[in-house]
Amino acid sequence: MKIGGYEIHSIEGGSFSLDGGALYGIIPRPLWQKVSPPDSVNRVEVRLRSLLFVGRGRTILVDTGMGLNWSDKSREIYNYSYVENPIMESLKAQGFATEDITDVILSHLHFDHTGGAVVFENGVYRPQFPRAVYYIQKEQFEWAARPSGKDRGSYIEGTFMPLMEAGVMTLLDGYTRIDDEIELLVFNGHTKAQQLPRVFDERKSLFYAGDLFAFSYHIRPPCIMAYDLDPLTTLREKDEILTRAAAEGWIVFFQHDPQYTAVTIGK
Ligand SMILES: [Zn+2]
Repeated sequence: MKIGGYEIHSIEGGSFSLDGGALYGIIPRPLWQKVSPPDSVNRVEVRLRSLLFVGRGRTILVDTGMGLNWSDKSREIYNYSYVENPIMESLKAQGFATEDITDVILSHLHFDHTGGAVVFENGVYRPQFPRAVYYIQKEQFEWAARPSGKDRGSYIEGTFMPLMEAGVMTLLDGYTRIDDEIELLVFNGHTKAQQLPRVFDERKSLFYAGDLFAFSYHIRPPCIMAYDLDPLTTLREKDEILTRAAAEGWIVFFQHDPQYTAVTIGK
């Protein structure tokens, strides 16, 4: 698909599993299990899908999946299996090399978004994409460095601090225009300052839903993940973005939905 000067690619980064109750919040299991059949320990499949914008002299990757540096114990807890580096394999299959990536937009620093931003080699972490500038909201970076007791488990310092130490991280302060066809919208319900890109021209618009709408099911107002720091803010943010998306016919791209990659929002 092409929007404005950008060719858009969906990059599959494998999948992992999370507790169904945590993902669907207050929605009773008899309702969600129809769309997300849980395994024997109540986990449901969650995809790790990144987005790639190619054009105007740039190759921009949005989020980086979970990466490779996982202990056997964590892999088992999260049902995360890989043979090769899934994001890298998917990029390669679509004709892109690590060196092609010029920009990496990290929506936020939860491990399922930043794990693939670094590689661990010879006892040290280094940026996975050697030519890229990485973007994160300053408020999210500061929060990730000192998270609350509620969300400490969602952050792994080794996946983002090495980027700062390597001098490749750019901290942004609120709403940002990457250029006249890509903007970063900022949301505060799921975590502090989650930035979600929208690419648009006069006719089309595609919004990367990150953890605002993890699955298409999360479009329903009361379906809010238990991970969210401020559920009532999520509720308001979902309503505001859906009102706009419906009025303007946006395509919404789902990072985590096993069933739907993207949908068009209508009234
Ligand atoms: Zn998250």
